[in-house]
Amino acid sequence: MQRLAILSLGSSVEPRREYLENAVTALRLDPDMTLFGYSHIYETTPVGGVAQNLFYNQCVSVLTELEPHELLHRLQKIELDNGRTRDTHWADRTLDIDILIYEGHEINDAELTIPHPEMLKRKFVLAPLADMMTPEYRIKGEPVGELLAKITSCEEVSAL
Ligand code: AMP
Repeated sequence: MQRLAILSLGSSVEPRREYLENAVTALRLDPDMTLFGYSHIYETTPVGGVAQNLFYNQCVSVLTELEPHELLHRLQKIELDNGRTRDTHWADRTLDIDILIYEGHEINDAELTIPHPEMLKRKFVLAPLADMMTPEYRIKGEPVGELLAKITSCEEVSAL
């Protein structure tokens, strides 16, 4: 059975738009996924004090029969194909792909936490998510628009 998975894409190294486009193209071309929806691209300020560059962020959704861990491994391959290195957490990166939601699954193991733990706290995730799904879309019972309105950090996000 196909399920909806919602992904968050990010890039803070030029060419940022091209890295996001490469990710969307790779998802489109994967025979085990159907691209379902996507948000506008947002330019956002870095979070965590390590990355220096402004990010481009985007939400994308796919329909897939891949199990969550299989999906994660496909996404990690796309990151690696786009020059992603895994060194410092929160550092600037060519391409980051996180699984925010996988319909019908809550997971918390060594490899995967779904819903993604950072998502409920970050404007750079919630703004594109509200754009793609509508602000009424609920995560753990809470509308995304309300989660977004509650965030008090000084992160800036603007749609391109
Ligand atoms: P990052 O630096 O954001 O690319 O984090 C990568 C690590 O986060 C990988 O080792 C994943 O196993 C782990 N991880 C945990 N939960 C998730 C998730 N929901 N989506 C993507 N990676 C995840």
